[in-house]
Amino acid sequence: MDLIRQRIRDAARLREAEARRRVLTPVGERRPGRVVIDGRELVNFASNDYLGLALDPRVTAELRRAAGTLGAGAGASHLLGGHQEAHAALEAALADWTGRERALLFSSGWSAALGAIPALIGGGDTCVQDKLNHACLLDAAILSGARLSRYPHLDVHGAHRQLQLAGPEGGQRRARGEAPAARLLVTDAMFSMDGDLAPLPALADLATRFGAWLMVDEAHSLGVLGPAGAGLTVASTLDATRVPVLMGTLGKALGGFGAFIAGDAELIEHLINAARSWLFTTALPPTLAAATAVAVDLARREDWRRERLQALGGRLASQLTGLGFSVGALPGPIYPLIVGDNARALALAAALKAEGFLVPAIRPPTVPPGTARLRVSLTADHAPADIDRFCAALARAMGQLPPPELPPPPLPGAIHAR
Ligand SMILES: *Cc1c(COP(=O)(O)O)cnc(C)c1O
Repeated sequence: MDLIRQRIRDAARLREAEARRRVLTPVGERRPGRVVIDGRELVNFASNDYLGLALDPRVTAELRRAAGTLGAGAGASHLLGGHQEAHAALEAALADWTGRERALLFSSGWSAALGAIPALIGGGDTCVQDKLNHACLLDAAILSGARLSRYPHLDVHGAHRQLQLAGPEGGQRRARGEAPAARLLVTDAMFSMDGDLAPLPALADLATRFGAWLMVDEAHSLGVLGPAGAGLTVASTLDATRVPVLMGTLGKALGGFGAFIAGDAELIEHLINAARSWLFTTALPPTLAAATAVAVDLARREDWRRERLQALGGRLASQLTGLGFSVGALPGPIYPLIVGDNARALALAAALKAEGFLVPAIRPPTVPPGTARLRVSLTADHAPADIDRFCAALARAMGQLPPPELPPPPLPGAIHAR
């Protein structure tokens, strides 16, 4: 057998032994707060469509309307004729929402990160990141050629140390005949697998002190946090001088697909000329841009969606406490129930599915070893009764499991099974 085939088989065996194998399950149909899988309707606690906009009739009607005149796909890259008025209008709406001069659409969050970070830093520079940042931010730093240094989750002192270790600042380096080195500090706003928040004001102060740039990824917080859902950066009153690079995605609370970078006009002009994942790819479907502009408008105006999420979160947290989980204060719709062991997390997810609830078991390498969890994500489409029935089913499912061999390690801000 050749070496690559051998490696594939070895990796599969190891995954199986560690209960890390993933399987793909197609969803038949989506209904508000529900999915149909194998003909069975399940309450969907696996969706990042936090505001329930993906199925909103006004959004889907715009998608159909736009398809008639704009076509299914853009037909070209942005610079070579694919950039339509629907894209420009969505970019203007996103810039206005986030309080930035301009915004630039990308095909996905992955593509935004892989385009923006290597356009800003390279070999000899340093990229300082929270250890639990999304994989695309970490991979983008590696792709840039800069030195990637990660600090412990949410640890401002750790970030400080890493920025210090990045060496003397530009002026001193020039005096020693070395090329000046740039520093980019990057963080998720709301962490995707833990639901907690980055200490943005402290990180912005730190960046200013070191002459570094701060980049904030609002993938899970846009639409969910802040005034009119504008995100954590706006809620923290950090303008484009404090957070020069603001990234958001359209595939989560906005219910669509795609992403953007927002900042001052000079930054966006630079990305248009230097972000390779933007330059050399087909523009986002214009139909989607038109529909997402409607979603942005609804996300900004309809505070009831955020209020409902808050109420559902409070209800879930209090019932989890009653079930013996220690509940940290969580600001958003993501509730990680840390189980620890991979096989236990899978068994719980399977038991809950049998009871009519889709809740994904999240295992390494998505999360650190020993912190396998159920990730419950709430949406404005859920009803209070969904929470009550879920918690009752969770209690039954936990009762059927053998006791854990090892207690799960403590994690800040997360919810642990006792
Ligand atoms: C989902 C996610 C991304 C990737 O966005 P896609 O549009 O799904 O590629 C980036 N960053 C964070 C924090 C995310 O959660």
